[in-house]
Amino acid sequence: MNLPTHLFVDGAFRASATGRRVTLINPATEEAFAEVASAEVADVQAAVESAQRAWEGGWRDLAPGKREAVLHAVARQLREHQEEIAQLERLQIGKPISDARDEAGLGARCFEYYAGAVTKFGGQTLPVARGGFDFTLRQPMGVVACIVPWNFPFPIACWKAAPALAAGNCVVLKPASLSPLTALKLGELACAAGLPPGVLQVLPGRGGAIGDALVTHPLVRKVSFTGSTDIGRRIMELAARDLKRVSLELGGKSPNIVFADADWQRAADTSPMSVFANTGQDCCARSRVFVERAIFEPFVERFVAATRKLVVGDPADDQTQLGPLVSAEQRASVEAFLADARGRGSRFVCGGGRPQPRGFYLEPTVLLDVGADDRCWREEIFGPVVAIVPFDDEAAMLRAVNASPYGLSGSLWTNNLSRALRVSRAVQSGVLSVNSHSSVHVEAPFGGFKQSGLGRDLGMAALEGFTELKNVYVAE
Ligand code: NAP
Repeated sequence: MNLPTHLFVDGAFRASATGRRVTLINPATEEAFAEVASAEVADVQAAVESAQRAWEGGWRDLAPGKREAVLHAVARQLREHQEEIAQLERLQIGKPISDARDEAGLGARCFEYYAGAVTKFGGQTLPVARGGFDFTLRQPMGVVACIVPWNFPFPIACWKAAPALAAGNCVVLKPASLSPLTALKLGELACAAGLPPGVLQVLPGRGGAIGDALVTHPLVRKVSFTGSTDIGRRIMELAARDLKRVSLELGGKSPNIVFADADWQRAADTSPMSVFANTGQDCCARSRVFVERAIFEPFVERFVAATRKLVVGDPADDQTQLGPLVSAEQRASVEAFLADARGRGSRFVCGGGRPQPRGFYLEPTVLLDVGADDRCWREEIFGPVVAIVPFDDEAAMLRAVNASPYGLSGSLWTNNLSRALRVSRAVQSGVLSVNSHSSVHVEAPFGGFKQSGLGRDLGMAALEGFTELKNVYVAE
């Protein structure tokens, strides 16, 4: 397989200004397999300036129908290269290949959706009191920086780049240092599909080295970030200096609430993958399970049985459901949570160990007797660890659910319609699913309450976030 290992700027691959490179490690084998150019501040400067030239030089003013056609062409390229994209994702982060194929398809779907949206997203005419003619315009911002994490590298890159480009902006995309390959492939394929050079720049580089330069660059009008709450907070502080637009998709500690009246057997069978999918490295992971006491014991028994059936193994195998964690550091971080849980007397019903000597693997772990002050209950673990607690009273349970500083996602299981509506309103999260664990729909807004973020990705809401709203009044 041909690996994209250079920065992608102005429609071509190039070395970084200093020639600096970063080694990529396959998390399933612990072996180095590639060296990728790592951008420095001078590269940020060059990429932003050339993106600005591409914006002023035509992308900003391209007729919507032409933008639509280019984005459809990008989607076709992504579909044609779906397998290659999936294999790159598997190699760089150990994503199980069947998930990687689905996520490559999701990326293409983003381009299809926003290609179609270009000609359906506009302003309004307004009957202002003084008469005359008043209308609003949705205008592109200019250069936007999209900074993405390593857990869903390709789909998140697409769900930021596609609406940003559809709205008429140019994009500087910064992938995580652990996962640059699929973002670089996106840049290459988009250009091959007809996206003009400079409209989408891809700059792998260490966030600690180039993040500030990118966020504070005067030509960058908006920063769309997905990652940890700490870095999101820093970006917001930096952006505040120039009142830059920001959207932040951050951490989570999502609840999974199961009432006794629900089809709790189905909930128990499906809930393990709502927290263990992507080896728990998922901002929407349902890592706090609240189960009504009447069904607590049989629920836990069934949940654990389903967990034991999960296939942990080689990401290249079609049957694998859980691959390794992304890095040795990530596994060490999760193991520190487990050590804390042991120290505090939590019960390990299953998991807790390393299933095999090679690769950054960790068994899916189910904890009981976790206290409200324990790290495993309060903090985002970002690994295959779940805590299950019983509840007796709906109101007290909701207080515990909402005590988290996060509010990204969650699930609610009940067959009582009025309870479903009441609890859906009461849970403080940007996304919630009833009798399901689905969180992400290309067509629907995605984002968090409280410290899970600001602004929304996906759906038409993303186009609002990548445009400025202008009001024009014409006197009669
Ligand atoms: P992270 O450490 O915050 O990194 C995210 C991105 O920010 C990476 O590209 C990283 O680059 C970059 N970065 C690091 N320091 C920076 C700085 N000072 N300025 C600008 N950019 C900087 O997060 P992560 O560990 O990759 O991802 C895990 C986190 O993302 C979790 O908290 C998870 O919940 C969250 N997440 C949220 C969502 C959502 O939609 N809400 C989705 C997925 C993940 P380097 O890799 O080079 O450091």
